[in-house]
Amino acid sequence: MIHDLFAIDAHTHINHGAPHDSETVENITDASLEHILEMARAAKIDKMFCSTFSSVCANTEIPEENEYLERLCESLDCMYQWVVIDPRIKETFSQAERILKKPKCVGIKLHPGLHKYTLKEYGDILADFADCFETTLLIHGGGDEELLRLANEHRHLNFILPHVATDRDVEICALSKHGNVYLDTSGIGSVRNNVIEYAVKRCGSERILFGTDTYAAGFQRGRIEYAMISDKDKENILRYNAERLFGIS
Ligand SMILES: [Zn+2]
Repeated sequence: MIHDLFAIDAHTHINHGAPHDSETVENITDASLEHILEMARAAKIDKMFCSTFSSVCANTEIPEENEYLERLCESLDCMYQWVVIDPRIKETFSQAERILKKPKCVGIKLHPGLHKYTLKEYGDILADFADCFETTLLIHGGGDEELLRLANEHRHLNFILPHVATDRDVEICALSKHGNVYLDTSGIGSVRNNVIEYAVKRCGSERILFGTDTYAAGFQRGRIEYAMISDKDKENILRYNAERLFGIS
């Protein structure tokens, strides 16, 4: 039964009283660890892949934030780490080199938009670095031709385009010649009434990962559970693709 299947959230964040936490709206948004864990329990999510908001909303505290999350993942079974790199901050490369070897680290998170650089400028440096680890790159706002070029030139690297934000994201996933571009369903993009169904048809459910991006986890899960796709597709998205891709179970 789909309803009983524990899901893996491949894309979330937390606030923890850090300098660049995301803004919350009075009491109606809450990205504290406590609330994220509570939502996960309610929505039958048993693993979460996380980067702190403070490490993606700004680039001034990335090493400290990566370290904070590394320690948290050591103490919390359900929590896994996306290590954040800014290609202009040398220390983030050496730090990632160390953290990527840890069993709780699932790959590298990049946020060119908020960190203010482009893949055109730094994509090759980042992909060449990641290639040494045959890891996964989760890239915010990376749904452009540069990402497709990088994916086609780095067959051993996996790329995740978050939020299924545009038709073009789905196309890039479908057009990648090594099948190494994935989509994640996190965020409010998935409310659109054909986005999951279209992405499954165009790319196959094997290329889609479940995520929340801290939005209401039960709501996000419901979008997959009640999507007009097969049970097999729902299982792939909610859990099995993440297990396969990241070698966890
Ligand atoms: Zn995010």
